[in-house]
Amino acid sequence: MKKQSMDYQYSCSECGAAFDFSPQLMLCPKCQIFQKDNEPLRGILEVIYNDGNKAQTPDALWPVDAQILQSVPSARSPLWKSEKLEKATGFKNLWLKDDTRNLTGSYKDRASILVATIAKKWNIKEIVLASTGNAASSMAGIGAFWDMNVTIFLPETAPRAKMVQSLQYAARVINVAGNYDLAFELSLQYSEKYQVLSRNTAYNPLTIEGKKSGAFEIFYQLGKVPDYCFVPTGDGVILSGLYKGFYDLYKYGFTNNIPIMIAVQPDGSAAIYYALQNGFFTPIAAQTVADSISVDVPRGGYYALKMLQKYGGKSVTVSDEAILNAQKELSGTTGLFAEPAAAAAYAGFLKMKANIPQDADIVLLITGSGLKDIDSAMHKVDFPKKSIRSLDDLE
Ligand SMILES: *Cc1c(COP(=O)(O)O)cnc(C)c1O
Repeated sequence: MKKQSMDYQYSCSECGAAFDFSPQLMLCPKCQIFQKDNEPLRGILEVIYNDGNKAQTPDALWPVDAQILQSVPSARSPLWKSEKLEKATGFKNLWLKDDTRNLTGSYKDRASILVATIAKKWNIKEIVLASTGNAASSMAGIGAFWDMNVTIFLPETAPRAKMVQSLQYAARVINVAGNYDLAFELSLQYSEKYQVLSRNTAYNPLTIEGKKSGAFEIFYQLGKVPDYCFVPTGDGVILSGLYKGFYDLYKYGFTNNIPIMIAVQPDGSAAIYYALQNGFFTPIAAQTVADSISVDVPRGGYYALKMLQKYGGKSVTVSDEAILNAQKELSGTTGLFAEPAAAAAYAGFLKMKANIPQDADIVLLITGSGLKDIDSAMHKVDFPKKSIRSLDDLE
């Protein structure tokens, strides 16, 4: 039988040093010592496939058998279009990559699946992570599927639905009296103290590698890579994962081009946008309705920035008002109810569409379900003013 996955190793995205794979290896030990406070992570590792150019299909480009990954009930989300959206925008090839339909309702499952599958392979039983909500509920749900113990550090302000979801999946939820940055720090201390595998985004290299599956799927579903992808961006790991996927397809000979990726950020949480303008990161105090992309320090910032610079990517900011309007419009034109972070992809497209050819293949990454945060969605809907007893009461 044909070998399903190939030899692989880690390579530092900053200094290029190579390391044997180990599930516990997180950042490049050489670059990590230069880590400063309040800056993105130093020494993010990439998975390199030693015989990648011998791969018959992209499915071989995984550190585990692709069949095992695909046995998790989140693999493969639909890519579809809506006639009404086409009429509203004038774009005929505007595609929605609908990750609201993943097992736990967000794109985060792609990272959780790879981390959990590798953990299972190496007989690791517990996983810990910090999250603003979706990574938590995702790891909890995938952990339930693969029978892992999941410990979560969650800011106490996380949307309730995401917390309830994590608790439903029987994860151990630890509320943090502070923001995501504090949760991140405490979860790292916990993983060191108790020797537990961390799934912190960008920190565990498999979170980037796992998130490349979206790029592979889009490639299969369109039969080619698209011209543009709009990606809601916080820590920059979905963006990096998609880049890694498109880059692997390119590097190992499955395609000749890499899409123009557009990192969409709320104007109140735009660290990567500013870094792309200025060439360096400055700390911000993030504030936005889109909780999933509200980030002071984008953990995957250096990697994301490097990819954007190398492959001609762009970044655009959108206001909270534009995000909430885009959310409502997307619901009404497609039936797809996205959470604010995910709707930001559409808001970013609306802002940039005048500069995009109308026949271009464009993919909006719809990364999370609106049902995860109904408090935000309530801003733009009018509740019925009264209840009736008969049709005569209708005005
Ligand atoms: C996490 C998340 C994002 C952003 O991903 P990053 O890797 O943090 O940039 C976007 N949308 C949703 C719904 C998410 O949960």
